[in-house]
Amino acid sequence: MSGPVTLVYGDELMKHHLSDQHPLQPIRVKLTMELITSTGLIEHCHLVPPRAATIEELELVHSPEYVDLVRTLSDPALRKRVPRQRVIDAGFDSADNPISNHLHDGTALVAGATMVAAQAVESGAALHAFSPAGGLHHAHRARASGFCTYDDPAIACRWLKNQGHRVAYIDVDVHHGDGVEEIFYSEPDVLTISLHESGRFLFPGTGFPEDTGSGAGRGSAVNLPYVPFTWDEPWLEGFNRVVPPVLRKFRPTVLVTQDGCDTHHLDPLAHLAGTTRIWPHVGRVFHELAHELCDGRWVALGGGGYAVREVVPRAWTIFFAEIVERPDLAADLNDRESVMPGPEAQERVWAALHRDIASLGEVHGMNF
Ligand SMILES: [Zn+2]
Ligand SMILES: [Zn+2]
Repeated sequence: MSGPVTLVYGDELMKHHLSDQHPLQPIRVKLTMELITSTGLIEHCHLVPPRAATIEELELVHSPEYVDLVRTLSDPALRKRVPRQRVIDAGFDSADNPISNHLHDGTALVAGATMVAAQAVESGAALHAFSPAGGLHHAHRARASGFCTYDDPAIACRWLKNQGHRVAYIDVDVHHGDGVEEIFYSEPDVLTISLHESGRFLFPGTGFPEDTGSGAGRGSAVNLPYVPFTWDEPWLEGFNRVVPPVLRKFRPTVLVTQDGCDTHHLDPLAHLAGTTRIWPHVGRVFHELAHELCDGRWVALGGGGYAVREVVPRAWTIFFAEIVERPDLAADLNDRESVMPGPEAQERVWAALHRDIASLGEVHGMNF
């Protein structure tokens, strides 16, 4: 299953810096690159620099008015002329989505990095590609949300669809992939699967099993929520029971995965109890499914991850080791063991998982 792998990175991605106090710190991607380098994994891929996404690419999913607004807000001279209500309606000037002078440039670079990965896979230059700076899955067509301005996963999915692909997007970030899901909610040829902490407990508050798509897209959105304290074993059980059968039924020609690592128990923004021990398995299953269903075509993205130093670089290096099929080089980085909650919480987690898998099977007419 070996084949050329592209890794998209350049230090200019540090421009995607929302503010000094913001939880999303681009240094986590640079630290990941340092670990990918020191483990020797870097020798097993082509390192390719990012580029800025073009306006046409951004407008594959965003309205021209919104792109124009982001550019205007990024210019200190023009910014003052924008009516306050317009800024608020577009999701900006909040703690989550602050305005800065490099807002457009920084996020357009992230979107461009993800496009470089998608184009490498589509052209055949690479079989698999990883854009660790990407995965900004909360941005909507005309609204910033949850640290995300331009929705690079959706842009890549739309572009791949326009090349004639049936696209499967799988999102394992602890937060529901609401922006991507909404953009493709009524489209039957783009499948979105999101596994996340339940919206009853966590931002953005959406993504329940009964949310399955609308109109012609009915059945093409799949949501599996987890309750707080879900640890590795039940998380993986949900992943194993849902992701492979849904993908086999859909028969995609390319996989796009959002691989946010904020499911970890040390992550400060969420309440799951995962460890890095899920990543060898997640990476291997995506890899095998890409070969089984898509002739290997697989675009992997980063995503959330706010334990910037203690988790993100290890999680994504372990994951990347699966992409290049050298898990031996990252084995030392893994958490030694899973972290399990007390017996009552364990019981609550399993009961919720079995109930949610049952409702998911019912609404999708599948026996998980
Ligand atoms: Zn492969
Ligand atoms: Zn997240």
